[in-house]
Formats: sequence, C-alpha cells, structure tokens
Amino acid sequence: MGNFVCHLEAAIDGTVLPADCIQTMHRERPLWVRYDLAKVGEAVHPTDFAGRPKVLWRYQELLPVPDQDAVVSLGEGMTPLLAARKLGEALGLAEFWIKDESTLPTGSFKSRGMAMAVSMAKHFGLTRLAAPTAGNAGGALAAYGARAGMEVYIFMPVDTPGTIQRECVEAGAKVYLVDGLITDCGRIVREGRDTMGWFDMATLKEPYRIEGKKTMGLELAEQLGWRLPDVILYPTGGGTGLIGMWKAFNELRELGWLQRGTMPRMISVQSDGCAPIARAFEAGERFAEPWESPNTKAWGIRVPGAVGDFMILDAVRESEGLAVAVPDDEIEPVMNEASEMEGISICPETAACIVAARRLLEDGRLSADERVVLFNTASALKYAEAEPLDLPCLPADAKMGDFPL
Ligand SMILES: *Cc1c(COP(=O)(O)O)cnc(C)c1O
Repeated sequence: MGNFVCHLEAAIDGTVLPADCIQTMHRERPLWVRYDLAKVGEAVHPTDFAGRPKVLWRYQELLPVPDQDAVVSLGEGMTPLLAARKLGEALGLAEFWIKDESTLPTGSFKSRGMAMAVSMAKHFGLTRLAAPTAGNAGGALAAYGARAGMEVYIFMPVDTPGTIQRECVEAGAKVYLVDGLITDCGRIVREGRDTMGWFDMATLKEPYRIEGKKTMGLELAEQLGWRLPDVILYPTGGGTGLIGMWKAFNELRELGWLQRGTMPRMISVQSDGCAPIARAFEAGERFAEPWESPNTKAWGIRVPGAVGDFMILDAVRESEGLAVAVPDDEIEPVMNEASEMEGISICPETAACIVAARRLLEDGRLSADERVVLFNTASALKYAEAEPLDLPCLPADAKMGDFPL
C-alpha cells in the first residue's frame, strides 16, 4: 500500500499534528487527514483504477491505512450508480441518479467509515472499541470489530430499531440501550474511556471515518468519467458523509483529475423533527445550536448536535449549496413510492432527500436541467419491525460503575 499521508490537521484552527500515532480531536473538534497530493499524482493516474478490484481499497493512494496487514475488509465499495428515470420523471428532473449504498456490508454506507476506522485502530494496536450510535454505525462497528477480533461496546437509544439491535448482538458486540438520546450515549462512551480503556469511535472523534466516507465521492467521480454532477443531496446526521464527499472532490480537483472544473452544489437534508444544521444555515451561523427535542423516523439523521457542525456548514457554503429541513410526515409516503418505482430499498433518510428535491424544484432553488445525484444511504430493511431483545437498559444519566460492563 502506498502511504501518502503527511500529517493530520485540526479543522478548527489548522494546527498540524503527527499522523504516526493515535489521535482523536484537537480543542474538542475533528481532524483532517492530509496527503502529499503531488506525490499521489506521480504515483497513480485515474486510468489505473479501472484494473483494480471493485472495492473501496482501489483508491489506496488516497487512503490512510499504511500496511496491507491492517486492512479489515468485508468486500465493501463500488456500489451501483443507477439512473432513476421514473422517479426523475415524476420529480421533473432530466438526469437523476441514485448511488445505492444499501448493497454494502451491513446494509448501510456506515461500513465505509468503519472499514477505515477499524483498520486504523488495528494498525495502532487497539483492541477494545466503543461507540454511541443512532443505529447503522453500531451495526457496522460490530461487524468490522468482529472481523478484526476486537472487543466492541455499543450504546444506542432505547427506541433504536430491533433489527439493528439484533445485528450488533449477533456480531458479538456488547450492546446497551439507553433511555435517552444519542448524545447521552456519547457521554457514557466518553466517560468510559478511562475506566474501560476503550477507544471512542464516535462520529468524527477519530480522524479516519471521514476517509472511508470519502470513497463515496471518489467512486462517484470514477463512475461518471471524472465529471461531477451539478447537485448532490445528502441526508445529514453527524455529517461525515457530506464532509467526506466534499473532501474527496477537493482532493480530486487539486490532483487535476476532474474533467470539468465545476464542483457540485452540496445540499444537506434534515427532517424538521431534528434540523440543527438547516437552522444554523438559515441563520448564517458557522456553528449549530443543539436541537432541543429531536424526533424523526429517519433514525440515521436524528443527531441533535454534531462536533463537525462547522465542517458541514463550511462545505455547504463553499459549494454554494443549501441546508434544508423537510416535513417529517412527508418522508414515509415518499419512501414507499420511490421504492416501488425503482425497485431500490429506499431508506427514510434518502426519502427525505427526495422530498427535498421535490420542494426545491417547486420553489426554484433546484432546476429541472441540473444533473442530480442522491445516495441511498441504507436499506429500508434495516428498520423492519423485529422482536425486541432482552438487553440491559440504562437511564439517560447512567454513570460508569452503576452498571455491569
Ligand atoms: C448515519 C446515517 C446518515 C447520516 O450520515 P452522517 O454521515 O452521520 O451525516 C444518513 N443515512 C443513514 C441511513 C445513516 O445511517
């Protein structure tokens, strides 16, 4: 594997940090992985990728894992980019594509981030990982952790879909339900770092999940012949998907690999039941106030506060995009309609993006001739009804030592 990482960089103030040791955050804010792109450009050319295996590791020169032995893989990557003609026509879009991430291991795009973060954890010799999750990140961490032979602890809100609880338990993770929000789960994981010695794999609290998510942007570019679309709609929770993709596009531009100079407008989509980013965007703020009582059926974007809020908002603004919230009650009908039309198992988070496309076309902020791509971030089956499991359930203010681990 080529390792072209030169350093890590604090997103909040540009502080440079070494990449050859375990890093988490700087001033409680996330880190960027920086590459020597001039050397990457000398080592590899876009045409080289075509001959490589159809997994995300084909972009190894733009990924952080320095040694092949550390790679923890379930064969993830190169998801289909499907023309959604019927749905596009119904919306009034001439060119409409869906990149179907539901085909990834564990049925969601979270496997991209976890493949990278767990591989780096293995590289650094970590053996015990923990994460708070709204659902899919936990499923992916459990699977990749199992693959790597690591011990995994997962904390999720008590109303997380039963299928996802089951997925985590079946992969051997130690799973705790919390009678609270993902932020309460996050606090428990943070507080357990010292007593339990686990590594905190929460969204953006380690630098490598973004690099995994970045591969969505690299794949999209390659699949479209290194020409990016005009608009990307992406459901936003913690923001790694949108941030990672925007990072990918900037690296490709700097490498000079893009066939066309223009960058896509990044449109961040949330539900009006939990829309801290959309609210901050409207108010012209760089940081988002936490959302008071988050409530949405789109579990993956039920994130009331994100440590990378400013990175999401910066990406949206740099791209001349938007951050919007859609009515939560419009999500489910659209989800069923879209799945029926295209045969893709559309998840509620993606359905929110379809609602957003429709509304933006109506009010003229999106035009019919723009080439639009959205990502089906998970399979709808991840949220199917399932028998509840008999798992330990902690109060929202649970303290370390109050419960057995
Ligand atoms: C996590 C998740 C999202 C949100 O992604 P972020 O990178 O956290 O913004 C969207 N959809 C699904 C299905 C998810 O699991």
